[in-house]
Amino acid sequence: MAVTIKHFVNTYREDLAWYFKGGRYYNDEALKVRQSLKGTGAITVNYPEEKLPVPERFRFVPFLVSDDPAPGQQWGHDWCTSCGICAKVCPPQCIWIKRGTLPNGRPKPEPEEFYIDIDICMNCGFCAEYCPFDAIKMDHDYELASYDRTSAHIHDKERLSKPLSYWQSIAPERARMEAEVRDAEKAAKEKKKAERGR
Ligand code: SF4
Ligand code: SF4
Repeated sequence: MAVTIKHFVNTYREDLAWYFKGGRYYNDEALKVRQSLKGTGAITVNYPEEKLPVPERFRFVPFLVSDDPAPGQQWGHDWCTSCGICAKVCPPQCIWIKRGTLPNGRPKPEPEEFYIDIDICMNCGFCAEYCPFDAIKMDHDYELASYDRTSAHIHDKERLSKPLSYWQSIAPERARMEAEVRDAEKAAKEKKKAERGR
């Protein structure tokens, strides 16, 4: 009983303490405290009416990154080159990729089909960590419950594809750092090429 009363009092004490600092439930600073050993009091909210923001590093099922579509287009260019690395490293082997083919029969560096069985995915993030092209990322969308246990839980390419601007909106810091690395690599390649051409 004493423990319950302590949590009850701490809940209101913490709510009041954070009231003038942006609230205890909806800002990153408060989240850090809640997730540390310093977090006290009850921190539940009335889901689904209330939803807590998730931190950048939060990960749920993966999605595929594409360019933002040009005006009038539905889809942008896929970043995935169909290299298959994510499928190889996926511990429960829940990724299936069918590589595209060029008219001359040679492999096309784009997936024709891409599937992830989200019932098997264990949200480890290995696919995103190992992808050499920043083409697969871990999503923040955790509201995936459905009444269909068959096809709705196999996410196809259309379901998986999201534009770069979406990744930038859910993980701005990561997206910015990745863009810097890509730019630096591109500049280094161009410099090397220019030096070879001299
Ligand atoms: S998502 Fe990345 S690792 Fe997976 S096939 Fe595409 S490019 Fe390769
Ligand atoms: S998050 Fe892990 S389990 Fe899920 S698809 Fe990626 S590698 Fe596989």
